[in-house]
Amino acid sequence: MPSSTTPVKTAVVTGASSGIGAATARALRAAGFRLVLGARRQERLQQVAEPLGAVWRRLDVTDPRSVEDFAAAVAGCHLLVNNAGAALGLEPIAEARDDRWEEMYRLNVLGVLRMTRALLPKLLASGDGHVIIVGSTSGFEVYPGGAGYTASKHALRAVTKTLRLELLGRPVRVTDVSPGLVETEFSLVRHGGDAERARAAYQGMTPLEAEDVAACIVFAATRPPHVDIDEIVVRSRDQASSTQIHRRPPGTAGPAR
Ligand code: NAP
Repeated sequence: MPSSTTPVKTAVVTGASSGIGAATARALRAAGFRLVLGARRQERLQQVAEPLGAVWRRLDVTDPRSVEDFAAAVAGCHLLVNNAGAALGLEPIAEARDDRWEEMYRLNVLGVLRMTRALLPKLLASGDGHVIIVGSTSGFEVYPGGAGYTASKHALRAVTKTLRLELLGRPVRVTDVSPGLVETEFSLVRHGGDAERARAAYQGMTPLEAEDVAACIVFAATRPPHVDIDEIVVRSRDQASSTQIHRRPPGTAGPAR
């Protein structure tokens, strides 16, 4: 918590209804931030927000009107955590579905663009703004079946790096936090609700937890204003790359959490 002389900062977190976004909201609250949380599933969002005393509002980052309304309702903003995102499907390029590729691009790239553009005036006006973008190791690497998602996260990384260049000399920091495998609803969403396929992604290995990524986000957010953490790439000990994952036989203990 900040001392009585430290002004309370406001953080906006997108995709705060589950996974990394929900964990980030809890961790930022514990670090003393005031919160404004957004996502589409209002009941889930409310469950995250209410115990934290957070302001919450329905937000669909793929809908320009929703983003405008959300941003207009934010009184002031020091920190924007662009976390909302998803992978849809795992088809090879030969079988790629245009609708899924378009949706991933709208969500993972245009959603971040729109949120950042809408809140930038408030981030600048704060005098000490910060945009944290949840990228992915898929912004650095590729894997078979992952082209739609990896292309969107590579594009997002280009946006993040460009933003940092464009904001040079202005009081807004830009940080890319890029995790490897994290056990959230991500895999369930990717496989259209198929729990068995979703579980297979983590089988025999110990993935990151949402809280591990939230801790990286809070670390970046709580550095002094002159320190810009440029990129954090974080993976579980069992993952060396997108395709090289150490999986143990059933019943074998993994690393302690
Ligand atoms: P998750 O549990 O599925 O959370 C995704 C969040 O994004 C949810 O809160 C979801 O809320 C929100 N969201 C989805 N579409 C949205 C939209 N159109 N507008 C607003 N919010 C939307 O998965 P997660 O792992 O926490 O994912 C968070 C971020 O981490 C994503 O950007 C993902 O690409 C990235 N990431 C995840 C992993 C991983 O292995 N889990 C690895 C690397 C990077 P609603 O459905 O309620 O809108």
